[in-house]
Amino acid sequence: MIVIKGIAASPGIAIGKAYVLEDEEIVVNRIELPRELLRAEVARFKNAQKATHRDLDAAEAKVLKVLGRQHAKLIDAHRLILRDTLITREVPERIIREGVNAEFALSEALEAVNQQFEKMEDEFFRERRHDLFDVGKRLLSHLLKQSKKSLSDIKEDCVLIARNLLPSDTLSLHETKILGFATDLGGKTSHTAILAQSLEIPAVVGLSDISRRVKTGDAIILDGDQGMVIINPGPETVSKYQRVQQKAMQDERALETLRGLPTVTLDGRSFRLDANLDSPEELKTIVALQADGVGLFRTEYLFLNRNMPPSEEEQSKAYLSVVKAMEPKPVVIRTADIGGDRLSQLGIEGPKSETNPFMGLRGVRLFLRHSDLFKTQLRAIVRAGLKGRACVLIPMVSSIGEILGVKRLLAQAQAELQAEGQPVPEKLELGIMVEIPSAAMMLDQFLPLIDFISIGTNDLIQYILAVDRINEHVTHLYDPFHPAVIRILDQVVQTAHKKNKWVSVCGEMTSDPHAVPLLVGLGVDSLSVSPRMYLRIKQAVRGLRFANLQKLIPRALAAADSDQIKKLLADQGL
Ligand code: PEP
Ligand code: MG
Repeated sequence: MIVIKGIAASPGIAIGKAYVLEDEEIVVNRIELPRELLRAEVARFKNAQKATHRDLDAAEAKVLKVLGRQHAKLIDAHRLILRDTLITREVPERIIREGVNAEFALSEALEAVNQQFEKMEDEFFRERRHDLFDVGKRLLSHLLKQSKKSLSDIKEDCVLIARNLLPSDTLSLHETKILGFATDLGGKTSHTAILAQSLEIPAVVGLSDISRRVKTGDAIILDGDQGMVIINPGPETVSKYQRVQQKAMQDERALETLRGLPTVTLDGRSFRLDANLDSPEELKTIVALQADGVGLFRTEYLFLNRNMPPSEEEQSKAYLSVVKAMEPKPVVIRTADIGGDRLSQLGIEGPKSETNPFMGLRGVRLFLRHSDLFKTQLRAIVRAGLKGRACVLIPMVSSIGEILGVKRLLAQAQAELQAEGQPVPEKLELGIMVEIPSAAMMLDQFLPLIDFISIGTNDLIQYILAVDRINEHVTHLYDPFHPAVIRILDQVVQTAHKKNKWVSVCGEMTSDPHAVPLLVGLGVDSLSVSPRMYLRIKQAVRGLRFANLQKLIPRALAAADSDQIKKLLADQGL
């Protein structure tokens, strides 16, 4: 029995036979080309670039389907690499300057950059070189007309052992029989590790030379919690780990029994527990979870990666399918929040050229500028409202003028439909996202105009703390437990309840079992969580005592920093 320690990249236990993936060596020869062929060589390279862009589109569709929008940023990162001057300018220049083949020019350019990466001390940045190689390998395989070896060729349950796995390899792991993976290279913050976590595949990385120490067929225990791989374990170790695995499975099963049960605290306070829907594929899961509603239907997927905006017909079909499936439960349809990190290719001015897109033309700002797009979406939502309880939610509201503008357009949309002889629902609830500090501060003025609010903690936190939510350099400052965040949340809930308005929270904070006790104590009416965490959050709420948490809030509001708030919760065993 050999035990090798590495870095815990993704939790869970995998027990099985090893499958050692041979390192795919691509051999690149230097070929000198006559001058008259160099232009054609550059064109061949450009074609490989185009083919790689198509690969990325396909990969993006897959990521969106499996993991959601958050992770599609990885593909954006790869697109940026592909558009970098290293690829677009330097490689063609090398081809012409040195009179060589495209494969060689590309591998030379990549090697030069690799050497710079190697010198970097920051692990996060050093790890980004794998993304560069991932793109480089795709380009090379198109140039060499080789297809990449597919992990889906593996036909038996196994623990994958490899020198390295590229993020694109990891993406397809859930479609294979791979129970977990261990690699020589890699760090905790690599995209490969992040993807493994999202796909819930146990993984240990940074094991130095495991790919040479293990042979295909060896018995393996991979412990993704401890960051450990055991080669040819003894029978006692195997049964110990089987017990750990069984316990984890029991916990999962215990969660299953919560389907359909109310989300109520031990002392009887009920909450509406909704699910967030980011893509149509999630609808089946949400229905099966018996969620109380869709608390946030992110409609952006309908608008991204296309040149023409979706028609009213296409949209109303998409909204109807969700409204009908959930009926009579509420479906909160958010009008598209394009802009920020969701760049649209619809040819709309603004987002593509902004230096500070999160502060730019985004959400309701963009749609009020392009009222034709806005009205089409509102008409589609109104139509869906005939078949169930559709509610309209407006993102990125910062001033009363925007709410008035939305109401005008909504009234117009309804009047137009009626004039066309189409029926419209008697009542369509209208809500705003509270995700900009000015909306939180001015809420008392806004409330008479709307029916409900939904707090978007993802953006609200970034704007309260001035921390870009996707900037890796400041993630340590992105802190949902910051007392400033809790104070503003408290103020928002109090203000809304004074006017008898419904308060939902739909940011990622609702999917964090440690943060949920605070939201419950603040007295919100509903939480909308990501489907993956739905039952876990229900379980967490059902274990809480509302009265105790209410008492905790004044102390959290008086805290000087987030550590004090976390300690308050920890002292209560939360
Ligand atoms: C939020 O900001 O919390 C939110 C739910 O909206 P999004 O994450 O889509 O910006
Ligand atoms: Mg938001």
